[in-house]
Amino acid sequence: MRRTAKLSRFLPLQFSNGHKVKQFSKPCLRCKHMLHANDMHGIARLIQDQIHLAADAECPACGLKFGVACVIDSEKRVKRVLPPPWLFLLLLRVIPGTDPGPHPLLPDTSTMPAGPIQPQNYRRATEVIGRYADREIPAYIEINGQRYDFDRIEPKGTGDVSEFLIDGCLVYRS
Ligand SMILES: [Zn+2]
Repeated sequence: MRRTAKLSRFLPLQFSNGHKVKQFSKPCLRCKHMLHANDMHGIARLIQDQIHLAADAECPACGLKFGVACVIDSEKRVKRVLPPPWLFLLLLRVIPGTDPGPHPLLPDTSTMPAGPIQPQNYRRATEVIGRYADREIPAYIEINGQRYDFDRIEPKGTGDVSEFLIDGCLVYRS
């Protein structure tokens, strides 16, 4: 197996509309531990204003290895890519970044929600707006000095890549 770079080396990536992707997150398929770009080796690059991502992920919690392959558009919608991740990885390596032709592998169906980001360094507001599952809900959280207000509860931790998830169920957004 060839050595590949950590996905975090490719971040941040910026679309032509100014939207930026600073982190990739995906829950482990087995133990649900949230993996980040540091836990994934592969490639992420902008092709035709879409981020094409293919990587091998290794869960630091349980050791499971699995493939990740997807395309993220400039609205940060994530499309799953249909071919096996190893094939997508190979193709990304041979497609020049400036390739003007259509990508033969992009499905226009089969969309799936991207997971919200689980911040590792953040500050919880002392102001509490309620309780859920016996825990306090901070009114907002601060990440790198930026404030994100509480938006909703997601018992399964689902959400958008532009959102932040703490305690596995509380969603915050700007
Ligand atoms: Zn795991």
